[in-house]
Amino acid sequence: MKTNAKRFAKAYAVTPGQRFRLAGCDTAGLKAFPSKEDARVQTVKDAEAIDALQDRLYAEGRRALLVVLQGIDCSGKDGTVRAVFNHCGPIGVRITAFKAPSADERAQDFLWRVHKACPPRGFIGIFNRSHYEDVLVVKVKGLADKDDIERRYAQINAFEALLAETGTKVLKFMLNISKAEQAERLRERIATPEKRWKFNPADLEDRKLWPDFMKAYDTAITRCSTPHAPWHVIPADHNWVRNAIVARIVRETLEEMNPQYPQPTDWTPSRIKVV
Ligand code: AMP
Ligand code: MG
Repeated sequence: MKTNAKRFAKAYAVTPGQRFRLAGCDTAGLKAFPSKEDARVQTVKDAEAIDALQDRLYAEGRRALLVVLQGIDCSGKDGTVRAVFNHCGPIGVRITAFKAPSADERAQDFLWRVHKACPPRGFIGIFNRSHYEDVLVVKVKGLADKDDIERRYAQINAFEALLAETGTKVLKFMLNISKAEQAERLRERIATPEKRWKFNPADLEDRKLWPDFMKAYDTAITRCSTPHAPWHVIPADHNWVRNAIVARIVRETLEEMNPQYPQPTDWTPSRIKVV
């Protein structure tokens, strides 16, 4: 399938410099994907294409892709990783889930653990939560000094610029679910024995802070959607819509990077005989 390069990324990217608000954003996304079946077929095709492109990226060994996944509890971060990257072998993909920082991590600046987890050249790195927690949950719950948090937006932009300038393409996705959909998913986690491990009673406390989290997201997305590391806000109430959009944007981005298999410069394949 030929992709209409940049069409998807553009449709969901947040324009740098513009004030962004989640309120009023569509969380369903059914206009782009009215059919679940079509969306699933396209996602599988895109995931296979991503696998082939990842092989080239790994072989080329010169650049990296960093995919940042953010979203409120139950927004589908794990499910997105599974749908979009399951076709990639484990060789060239690294996933990092960021939890509350350890004592050692808290003894350093907030980007220390993040920088260490960034993908080496040739790799796709996936962040399940990220340095953005340091301006989201940390802000909402007052876990750091206000002035320190205020400085972090510029620090994040400078950090992401450093990554971009040194060969790492940064793609950021906010998985946007409605409050009603989160309630459904929390209820399902509680009711399903196989899903209970994902439930944390503290999630209900975070849910009470929903408006504060949305406000913190608005600020982070407004201040940190940059030309070198744009935010994409993805309608995520339906898993198949979410997966299809993220897979397409990742595919488009890798196609645009267009990694190449390196060819030998010091020997000629046609002159070599293996006996
Ligand atoms: P989960 O992703 O559901 O496993 O939960 C991870 C938890 O770690 C979430 O409640 C996040 O808010 C929390 N977390 C991640 N990064 C940070 C951070 N930098 N500071 C405080 N809490 C964090
Ligand atoms: Mg959780």
